[in-house]
Amino acid sequence: GDCPQWVAQPDVARRARALGEHFEQAFGRPPVGVWAAPGRANLMGEYTDFSGGTCLPFAHQYVTLTAAAPRTDGLLRARSLQDADESVADERLREVRVADVAPGSVGGWFGYAAGVAWGMDRVATGRSAHPVAVPELALAPGFGADLMVDSTVPIGAGLASSAALECSVALALFSLSTGNDDPDEAPRRALARACMDAENYIVGANTGGLDQTASLRSHAGETLALDCRDFDVASLPAEPAAAGLTWLAVDTRAPHRLADGQYSSRRAECEAAAAVLGVGRLRDALPEHPSEDDAAAALARFDAVLADGAPLDGDPEGVRLRLRHSLTEMVRSVRIADELATPDADWSLVGRLLVAGHESMRLDCQVSVPELDAAVAACVDAGALGAKVVGGGFGGSVLALAPVHAVDSLARSVCSTFAERGFRDPLFLTLQPSPAGRRIL
Ligand code: ADP
Ligand code: MG
Repeated sequence: GDCPQWVAQPDVARRARALGEHFEQAFGRPPVGVWAAPGRANLMGEYTDFSGGTCLPFAHQYVTLTAAAPRTDGLLRARSLQDADESVADERLREVRVADVAPGSVGGWFGYAAGVAWGMDRVATGRSAHPVAVPELALAPGFGADLMVDSTVPIGAGLASSAALECSVALALFSLSTGNDDPDEAPRRALARACMDAENYIVGANTGGLDQTASLRSHAGETLALDCRDFDVASLPAEPAAAGLTWLAVDTRAPHRLADGQYSSRRAECEAAAAVLGVGRLRDALPEHPSEDDAAAALARFDAVLADGAPLDGDPEGVRLRLRHSLTEMVRSVRIADELATPDADWSLVGRLLVAGHESMRLDCQVSVPELDAAVAACVDAGALGAKVVGGGFGGSVLALAPVHAVDSLARSVCSTFAERGFRDPLFLTLQPSPAGRRIL
């Protein structure tokens, strides 16, 4: 039948020109520019960014585009071309005064866009968790903008369409406000924080900064080693293409089940575990360069403290599983980062660690669903070196490391497994480590 279906490579230049025309129809004037920001994949470090873990994301080539022009009446107006998507059903032009954006004031998808203006103001004035105030991000009184959005990132597929939206808006607003089209590392860090604040406080999704950092600070052909204690990044240059391998994403299109509040409850359980261990965040329960023995020792400390009668905020079994996921995930991240920093990276080792990561997401973090498990198993059976769920789980995508020559047979094999199990047909994407967000028109 129709499976496998491949998501086409995005024709970003054409989409940007078309978006300019849509903008002109909607707003009666051309945009002054178009900005693009990518979604991301992540090799390891799921559910650990908020614990200060190391994440290993790369930006992929699917981007969200924002066409924009400034206003001087303090209004932010926006429309998205994804209004046909049922998760985003909203053809209306959305509008808010920049000064009125606050938690609870903007609902739906517009929260991701308008929230960025609010986040920029917080970072500018030093009210966010960013280590310093960054006055460059301040939006002058009366600053406003018209925005038109178009995403080539699959929405809600675990490939970070939400961050791509926030970050493309952030680059557009920053450029309109400062005239700077090519922000360097310091403002990019600050803008990533503004986007995190938008997602955390305006949208109300308690995510930890992995997606926004990847979208704004990645480099073509590289994976980031992102230390979420301080958001320092190092580039890992090893590329699977050099070894005849490619990154394959399987968008399971599994309906999100029971996902409401699950992300936040996982985060709360990790914080409860940190409290038992007497650390501010779980990363601090491990040494600078942690090993599997260090993870086991921290878990044993947790058990001992609880056996001594220490109070625990939550279900002890759940908290212990989340702790075990966090600790082992942090160790797997460091092991992969070490491997990708060596000239002759052992990709089969990386693949085995991906599978171990998926097992931890399934059994300890408990965020997998049958479609994800089936996709991982089918990929590995059909010759992938490894595969794992990417992002928050409860549906979304699997990331597989596959020999280029095996990609088609691998996709067919996933299709037949899904058909046998009665799952919806999945979608397939090949992902290339790509540059961070930038102005494109
Ligand atoms: P993911 O980031 O993995 O794609 P999320 O659930 O975090 O999944 O974000 C998806 C949400 O982001 C959508 O429901 C919608 O609110 C918003 N969104 C993303 N892209 C767009 C877009 N192009 N237009 C409107 N809303 C979007
Ligand atoms: Mg998201």
